[in-house]
Amino acid sequence: MITITGNTKLLGVMGCPIKHSLSPLMHNAALQERAVRLGHSFLEYVYLPLNIDPSSLEVALSGLWVTDWQGFNVTIPHKQAIIPYLQTISPLAQAVGAVNTVVRQAEGWMGTNTDVQGFLAPLLPLNRPWHSIEACILGNGGAARAVIAACAQLGCAAIHAVGRDLDKLRSLQSDVAAVGITLQTHQWDALPSLLPRSELVVNTTPIGMHPHRDATPLEQSDLVQLPTQAVVYDLIYTPRPTRLLELSAQRGLVAIDGLDMLVFQGAAAYEQWIGEPPSIPVMQQALEAYLTRP
Ligand code: NAP
Repeated sequence: MITITGNTKLLGVMGCPIKHSLSPLMHNAALQERAVRLGHSFLEYVYLPLNIDPSSLEVALSGLWVTDWQGFNVTIPHKQAIIPYLQTISPLAQAVGAVNTVVRQAEGWMGTNTDVQGFLAPLLPLNRPWHSIEACILGNGGAARAVIAACAQLGCAAIHAVGRDLDKLRSLQSDVAAVGITLQTHQWDALPSLLPRSELVVNTTPIGMHPHRDATPLEQSDLVQLPTQAVVYDLIYTPRPTRLLELSAQRGLVAIDGLDMLVFQGAAAYEQWIGEPPSIPVMQQALEAYLTRP
């Protein structure tokens, strides 16, 4: 049996609520595989869920520091709120305006963002001419910020965000302009003019997420307006596929779900903490086994 000992180092994920997070499952699978591969009889690292109420964020960070935590992931609702309490913020986290990974450094906590890398992982192998591609992002929340930064890294010809709240759209536009990204913002009724020129469509809204499996942000009547080579990327990973991706595949479009993004953002965080990459197949298999359980 591979056990936790007095030497086991602590990693985790903080959020509120946290009980639905799949990160402990995925990371502990990789950490156990590492222990077996290295012939250890003990776990060098363990990854735990941390339910931290927003009112306790600062005191929780002090507690994690004095108890020698090595690092942690950050999820809703702390991704932006944590920034003032960290000693260093990576340029990428500054560009996204959110931190999803925190690393212990000699001078204090360093916040970075691995969602961009995770989002790009399944897109890069497609080898598309991103410089001539317009991206249409549905939603304007936290995940949309990482997707916008990723589309800027790809060098997309134009980046459009579609939302329902003009004030939130304007605020997003001005935040990304501050880091040199030009974002065009639209309300949902602009879709008929946007879709025919969008070769990358990303759903960053929760529309279609379990238990609302029949919901979709785009219907078949919208999808027929997309170019035939379009890629439709849904950040949701429960259900697999979402209604949006089912309809997209029926139309012959490239359909990508959010599971790889989850795995690759986690793998990038793991590498920051441990200094070596995890086994991606072990992480994927752990998640797939859990998500397809009876
Ligand atoms: P968020 O900050 O709450 O943003 C959600 C966005 O969706 C907001 O712009 C919201 O609009 C919009 N929205 C929600 N319901 C809507 C509706 N019925 N009609 C139109 N717009 C609607 O959440 P988030 O953190 O960005 O996460 C969004 C989704 O991405 C979730 O499903 C999450 O699970 C997924 N995600 C996946 C990964 C991954 O690794 N695969 C990573 C991050 C997030 P308003 O602002 O107007 O409310």
